[in-house]
Amino acid sequence: MQNVIQFPYVASPTQPVAHYIRLGESGYQKLANLHAAGRLPATRVVVDASRLKHQKELVASLKAKGAEVVLDTKVAELSGVERFEGYARHAPWAELGGGKPLTPNHFDPVAAHDIFGMIARFAGEHGVDAVLAPTHFVGDPTYTGWFKVDQASCRALRGALDREGGAHIAIDYPLIAPHTSLNDDALRSEFLAGLGDLPYDNLWVRASGFGNDAGPLTTKRFLVAMAGLHNLGKPIIADYLGGLVGQASLAFGVVSGISHGVGEKERFDAHSWHKPAAKNDNGSFGRATRIFVAGIDRSVTINELELMANAKGGRRLVTCCDRACCAHGLKDTINDPRQHAAYQNFKMIAELAAVPDQNREQHFLNGRTSEVARQAWQVKNLRFDIDDAAARKIDVAQFTKRLVDHSKQMGKMLQSLEDLHESRGRGAPRARPIAMRHANQGKGKAGSQ
Ligand SMILES: [Zn+2]
Repeated sequence: MQNVIQFPYVASPTQPVAHYIRLGESGYQKLANLHAAGRLPATRVVVDASRLKHQKELVASLKAKGAEVVLDTKVAELSGVERFEGYARHAPWAELGGGKPLTPNHFDPVAAHDIFGMIARFAGEHGVDAVLAPTHFVGDPTYTGWFKVDQASCRALRGALDREGGAHIAIDYPLIAPHTSLNDDALRSEFLAGLGDLPYDNLWVRASGFGNDAGPLTTKRFLVAMAGLHNLGKPIIADYLGGLVGQASLAFGVVSGISHGVGEKERFDAHSWHKPAAKNDNGSFGRATRIFVAGIDRSVTINELELMANAKGGRRLVTCCDRACCAHGLKDTINDPRQHAAYQNFKMIAELAAVPDQNREQHFLNGRTSEVARQAWQVKNLRFDIDDAAARKIDVAQFTKRLVDHSKQMGKMLQSLEDLHESRGRGAPRARPIAMRHANQGKGKAGSQ
């Protein structure tokens, strides 16, 4: 694939990039349709234990095409006061809580209910390739002992898998932590010490308060923090991370892969998990459909998208011009925002994965990052039709301010990443490449996997 992007020096290797797609809780029929239409070329997926029952066919079909399937037990959500009654409640082990969140006692390796056996049998029955260890949000202010509990759980799950005929099933370890704690040298050392000799393949980092909308400084700190985890010697997956920030993490080689949903789960926040759930805040019900504008790396509502497209010079900036993605432009994008989001995501990651490792930073800065900064600058200069905006119930002043702020942020992002690139220098160490874990292992080729 090295002939796709021409570089005068193609001496460095091109390591694969792991691109996990979280199938998520809702809209799986849409994903099944996308897959059936050949528009969901995922080679690695994460399925929630709470939804697997409804996604069996899709998962079987993905597996048949050689995809790696990773199970999320959802126990982090099941232990959160705000979350345990949401979609996660459909996970088989939710019942152990008896209508309440799961507590540290439920993760006692010698307890009679044997949650690890339940998880191991479920994983075996559904033929998954790996299980995310049943870990928790270590920033939970109501219980500070989760990290210790989770380390024991990881070992207990290994034992249970081996006992229940799942010796071939791998474990990955999700470290779910406030993003600020990852930046803290002392706390990071604690994480490194605790994660040192647990039985797992890949470290997944779910940084709370962080995601595709992170600012330039926060992003830079995250990249540095991820590089600070390389001493573990494990491949690293940035979980719940999409957009330009996710691509930057890959381009800089600080992570081996990223994981996000299709147009969702591109950021993560657990800061209110210990509080009672707000009424009617279950899933995406009632939220306006959002559409990914690839050129500026932001999602907007249909009304906002149309307002921008109607402005002078706006259409070419916000319309998907990729015929293979949206054959009829704006109309197709609005008709099927998920298909568009999925296609754009796969395309951008595959393009990055085709670039030799040592050239990825420069390629990403000169290409995607510069382009987003330039287009965000152009979009903020659009002049909107007041009547059109009023009819769409959009406050022009507010909307323009958002676009101006975004443009500033993208300009600073480019600067911030360029600074980091210069300070790291060429040949900075990169995260360990990740292996594929499924029946077709070894048949894969370089590229986005
Ligand atoms: Zn499109």
